[in-house]
Formats: sequence, structure tokens, C-alpha cells
Amino acid sequence: MELNERNIEEIVKQVLQGMTPQSTEKPSRPVAGNIPAKSRAAMLTALEKYEIKEFAIPTLGDDDILVKVEGCGICGTDAHEFKRDPFNLIPLVLGHEGTGEIVKMGKNVKKDSAGKPLAVGDKIVTCMIFKDNPDITMFDLNKQNVGGADVYGLLPDDEIHLNGWFADYLVVRGGSSVFNVSDLDLDSRILIEPAAVLIHAVERAKTTGILRFNSRVVVQGCGPIGLLCIAILRTMGIENIVAVDGEQKRLDFARELGAEKSVNFKDHKGIEALAEGVKDAFGGYLADFAFQCTGSPVAHSNIYKFIRNGGGLCELGFFINGGDATINPHFDICSKELTVVGSWVYTLRDYATTFDFLKRAKGIGLPINKLITHRFPLSQINEAHQTNLRMEGLKIAIINE
Ligand SMILES: [Zn+2]
Repeated sequence: MELNERNIEEIVKQVLQGMTPQSTEKPSRPVAGNIPAKSRAAMLTALEKYEIKEFAIPTLGDDDILVKVEGCGICGTDAHEFKRDPFNLIPLVLGHEGTGEIVKMGKNVKKDSAGKPLAVGDKIVTCMIFKDNPDITMFDLNKQNVGGADVYGLLPDDEIHLNGWFADYLVVRGGSSVFNVSDLDLDSRILIEPAAVLIHAVERAKTTGILRFNSRVVVQGCGPIGLLCIAILRTMGIENIVAVDGEQKRLDFARELGAEKSVNFKDHKGIEALAEGVKDAFGGYLADFAFQCTGSPVAHSNIYKFIRNGGGLCELGFFINGGDATINPHFDICSKELTVVGSWVYTLRDYATTFDFLKRAKGIGLPINKLITHRFPLSQINEAHQTNLRMEGLKIAIINE
């Protein structure tokens, strides 16, 4: 082709025409006009019974945000509510591991809890609502954890109703903590809340001064919590990790997420033999540090036997009261001079740290999105919860169409 002046003019014209749609029009974003008058919400109306109800989407206050829900994980807490309602909250809209897109904001909403700008179209997650102490920020490092604060998905029903993430829309009230996580994919965003629990646990573990790059670390329990623990340790650069569980499939996944070795407790009869198995996996040494992620009192009693003299332990399995555990204070703690820390929930700062963990985990090729083993539409929320109760998968998520 000859490039004379006319040709060039034509080419420039064509290029400009081709560019026009991208350069002047913003990608399609939901606008106020597209917001329906009503939203579906899965309301737990009785034990083991969700009903899909429709509620009017209210007029937003100046500090409120309307979120179109994309997805929400089912948590162990949801399973307890579904089965027994221990918090006495029925009827309510559950779902606190959710994420979605801002479709409308009050005029006062400008930034998220980390100071990042917020706009319609941004993807967000919510964290705590400090009703009694709204001045708490993510920079209050002495605020220990979420205890005493509310979260969406565990709020009593009110006249707005759209208080949980198992719905098409969520109304985020002014004063809630909100994070702009537009740079994370949907699966990662659904895993933020459970991962934050482990970020907090690892921060607690670090206070012992025992957890180092070259530490031998045993993680007992390979449900979502233990598996996320392994992935976090690996992204921190800790390589010498041994996973302990009774299910081979979970142990295999633990290896994929960064455990160097795994020990199936079903292969070992009695605690002495199991402790030997853990020692063998570390090449003849006991662990420097242990994470107890099972919630089983027997497992708590056992874990001391895996830890060397002067080692450390982080107990985080007992999210709810799992009963008493028997230990021998003399052998298990005193003569070994163990340092034991407990961990519960997370802080706002841990939440922000979690976003970076999720990016790093992807960066080093850990397949953490495989933690989400089952996906259900909102209309099948009862089946989704039953699947969760049968413990068939790891993380089960509701994904909105
Ligand atoms: Zn949760």
C-alpha cells in the first residue's frame, strides 16, 4: 500500500473513528435509573428455612451506599444460625462474607475506611460497624478485634431489611467500615473475611517472637481456616509447613496451598505415634510453632505434643464454645516453656492487610480460588446451606446472576 497524504488522512480518520467509543464513553455502569424498586433477599425465617422475599429499596440517606451484591461466602457462623439460631436473631438476612458493586451513594460518601476514593461502579466489602464507638479507625492498632461491633449479615431485622449479603442489594448505612477492593477478582473478594481471621491469627502468632522465616510450623486442621493459614504462612516466606488432618483430599490441597508435607492422623494410632509422624515430617524435629485450626478439644490436647521446648502455639479453632480440653500443665506448658496465644476475629487493619495477602498469594501461584468448591444462585440458598452442613466442600458461595 502506498502511503500518500490522502491515505494517511483516511487511516487517521479510521483510527479516530475506531477510538471514539472507548475514549469518550465510559464502560457501562449501572446508573440510578437501572436500580429496581425492589430487591430479593434470602430471609432466614425459621431453623433451616430461608424464604426469598422482596423488599422495597429505600431512599438512601446522605451517608449511605447501595450495593448490588455479586456474591457471598457461607461461613461457619451462618451454619450455626441456620441450624440453631444461637444468637436469637431469626428472622434476619444473613451473609457477611459478601462483596458487590456500588450502584448509588449518598452525597457525603467520598472515601472508604482506608482513605481510598469511592465511586459508583467500585467493588466493595464491608467490615465492622462500631455503633458505640464510631470514631474507631483502621489505624487504632490497640483495638484488639471485632468483639463488640456489628457486621452486616448478623444484624437484627429492621424496617430496611436489606441488612445482609444474601440478597440482590445491600444498604450500607453511614458509619460502617467499607473498603474499595476493585482491584481484586470476585473469588478473592469472597475470601477476604475468612482470610482476615488468619491474618489476625498470624499477627497474634508473631507477637510471640517465635515465628520466623525458617520456623518449622505445623497447622492442625485443613478446613478453610487451616488451608488459608497455610497459604498466608507461605506468602510470608515460611516454607517448612506440615499439615495435619484426617482427610487425604484436604491434605493434598494443603500441599497445593503451600504445605511442604502432610500427616494423616488416621495413619497413626494414638497421640505418641501421631507426634512421631509430625516429627518425621520435619526430618526428626518437633515444630517451632503450631496453629490449632480444628475447634476440636481432643485436637487441642494433642497439639502440645507436636511442639518443641520453647516453641509457640496459636489457638484459633474455638470460634464458638467447643467444650473443654484436657492438658497437662506441667508437661505441656511449664516444662516446655511454651508461649501460647489465642486469636479471635480481626481488626480493621487486618482487613486491609488481607487484600495484599490475596494479591501476593495469586502472585506466587497459590490456587486459593479453588477454596471455593461450590457455587449456588440465591434461589438455591437452602440447598447451599444443606451442602455446607454435609461438609461436602470447603467454601460454599452464593453467586448472584
Ligand atoms: Zn465468616
